[in-house]
Amino acid sequence: MNYKNPDQHGYYGEFGGAFIPEMLYPNIEELQNNYLEIIESENFQKEYQGLLKNYVGRATPLYFAENLSDQYQTQIYLKREDLNHTGAHKINNALGQVLLARHLGKKRIIAETGAGQHGVATATACALLGLECIVYMGEIDIQRQAPNVARMKMLGAEVIPATSGSKTLKDAVNEALRDWINNASTTHYVIGSVVGPHPFPDLVARFQSIISKEIKEQLLEQSGRQKPDYVIACVGGGSNAAGAFYHFADDENVKLIAAEAGGFGIDSGRSAATTFLGTKGILHGSKSLVMQTDDGQVIEPHSISAGLDYPGIGPFHANLFKEKRAEFFSINDDEALQSAFRLTKFEGIIPALESAHALAVLDKKIFDKNDIVVICLSGRGDKDMETYLKYLNN
Ligand SMILES: *Cc1c(COP(=O)(O)O)cnc(C)c1O
Repeated sequence: MNYKNPDQHGYYGEFGGAFIPEMLYPNIEELQNNYLEIIESENFQKEYQGLLKNYVGRATPLYFAENLSDQYQTQIYLKREDLNHTGAHKINNALGQVLLARHLGKKRIIAETGAGQHGVATATACALLGLECIVYMGEIDIQRQAPNVARMKMLGAEVIPATSGSKTLKDAVNEALRDWINNASTTHYVIGSVVGPHPFPDLVARFQSIISKEIKEQLLEQSGRQKPDYVIACVGGGSNAAGAFYHFADDENVKLIAAEAGGFGIDSGRSAATTFLGTKGILHGSKSLVMQTDDGQVIEPHSISAGLDYPGIGPFHANLFKEKRAEFFSINDDEALQSAFRLTKFEGIIPALESAHALAVLDKKIFDKNDIVVICLSGRGDKDMETYLKYLNN
């Protein structure tokens, strides 16, 4: 079975595709017709790989977490995406797409961001490569994420508030799409996860696939084995998970585990566990699982981690779920917090709250003593210190 690549129309099984307004056809077609040839060209790869190495700081370490392994009686390795420049995996994709935009002759970049992490990564890539950068962000998110807004501005990006609807991520997406329709010939829209119309899910998965490529090489060097027994990653839209799973997806000897944000619990009405709560629907240009009411209104998600606070999931993961290729766990806010404190205490690593959801799977599933379990540590916890401090003091 081919889990890793979509078909020519962008479908992973029954999920994916490109459901877009007619006015976006030219933009999407330009991308569909050119992305593979450009990103697979020697020229592009040389520049991209050079930046990943010398600018982002790749390869990120694969770290055998001995203390955590003792605690859980299994062999735990952490893939340290938290050590990337800008503090998470998002830069792998942002840099790739901004480079792609330059190869397409675009001078202007737009993006949308909820928590601000993708906006910062995109603004960083634009500063480096000299492209104009406009980031749409819900007015409420601008207030909630002031430090990231400041970073984007310092990096030279213009941050435009989305003032309609709930003034959050989905409204920022609408503004970004409107901009793209009006500025198609000059502008590339950098989508931040494995979501959106084809070819974005595949494009983003390919840029993030460096994660599992490195895991393979590093695991072989460190343990003599090229394959882990398990790979665990958290899923918002699903880009770090797609990257960590990519080169193992078609090898059923490697078990895949995805951790979704349960929020206050899947029955609480305040959750972001899309595979448990979602039904088939169309969100942001692709067919996938979506948290929605019976008449198709998107339900506002909740998670303690802003990066997992998304009402959908990429079609790559919807298919892994449907086919039972990956096992999905719903991790509640308090479980994620406990795991973050545990990792900090045992290994001296403060993880992002998003990544802590992946770590919490260790409390949900028993692994054998000799199992090799790789956990993708998608980001660092600096941005979450305010939340952590609140619990430290209680
Ligand atoms: C944005 C973010 C995520 C969630 O996004 P995915 O596309 O699901 O990877 C996870 N971890 C961190 C640190 C993030 O910044």
